[in-house]
Amino acid sequence: MEIKELGEFGFIKKLACQFATRHSKIVKGIGDDASVTIQDANRYLLCSTDTLVEDIHFSLNYTPADKLGKKAVSISASDIAAMGGKPLFLLTSINVPNSTSVKFINLLYKGIKEKCDELNIALIGGNTSSSDKIIINTTILGEVPKDQVIFRKGASEGDMIFVTGYLGDSSLGLKLLNRKKRKKITERSFGYAMNRHIDPSPRVIEGRAIAKKKLASSMIDISDGLIADLRHIAEESSVGARIWVNKIPLSICFKKWISKYPNDINLAIAGGEDYELLFTAPKSNITKIDIISRKLGIPITHIGEIMPKKCGITVVGENGKIFNHAVDGFEHFKNKN
Ligand code: ADP
Ligand code: MG
Repeated sequence: MEIKELGEFGFIKKLACQFATRHSKIVKGIGDDASVTIQDANRYLLCSTDTLVEDIHFSLNYTPADKLGKKAVSISASDIAAMGGKPLFLLTSINVPNSTSVKFINLLYKGIKEKCDELNIALIGGNTSSSDKIIINTTILGEVPKDQVIFRKGASEGDMIFVTGYLGDSSLGLKLLNRKKRKKITERSFGYAMNRHIDPSPRVIEGRAIAKKKLASSMIDISDGLIADLRHIAEESSVGARIWVNKIPLSICFKKWISKYPNDINLAIAGGEDYELLFTAPKSNITKIDIISRKLGIPITHIGEIMPKKCGITVVGENGKIFNHAVDGFEHFKNKN
């Protein structure tokens, strides 16, 4: 049997069963955005690790080394944000071919430092090795007050579904970078979408704000795609969900694009790497969520609701009928790469 038959998510589910443990300090092991273990009487320790592999996650054709460094830090910080936590420490493993220039490595670390400084994260270690392709691994440690942690589990029927920022820009950026359909879009829009892909902003401040006020019943960051990540919440919470296509928040650039290519709405539904926060909350919290949105100057949009498990996950189109989106999102071993 080949791993592609299991898929990334099938493989992780198997691991979660195989390594389920009753260790007294583990609150959540495999299966959330970060592991949750007991740090002291009041706080949980959050840990997560991520890898960026050349020609799978990025191409050197369009990725400057400093942006690659920034992204490596951002995607790890995003997983801590998804738990409502504060990122603190980072370890980076750098694996590069012998022919890599020192200038590239210096730039890579310049980007790592910039993002770490911005998010107040300290680099405390890592590892260095030669390899055939560039592989950057980041392991991040963070913390959260015990009463503020937010899991993927916890959504209940009737809860509203929210998302921060705008969806689809990162996938659109990637599409434009790969397909060079630039003549159909202004340089400014191209630059915006490309930047959203190459240099995403983890929603650490927003995650903390939501956690501090205890507004969310469940939360995840959107790395695999809206539907794929909503499915993770639904499975962990044993619920179903309904999303309205016309409520998905879209940037001006993305709206302009889909006015010419309406099918590309799928990039907002199933495209990954937006690193926005997807969360559920009881209806009674909507005013407080609006206040946070206005205070932080970032849209937090109500895009759907949690349904009974038997309803599964549905996307409703503008005509009120089921919208048949192409795929759920990105899954290693199942998608092309
Ligand atoms: P995210 O997209 O939020 O980074 P992943 O889908 O990578 O999350 O991982 C989901 C869960 O599975 C996490 O708890 C992660 O630590 C765990 N996980 C993923 N791959 C492995 C692995 N090879 N061994 C152990 N745990 C893993
Ligand atoms: Mg995540």
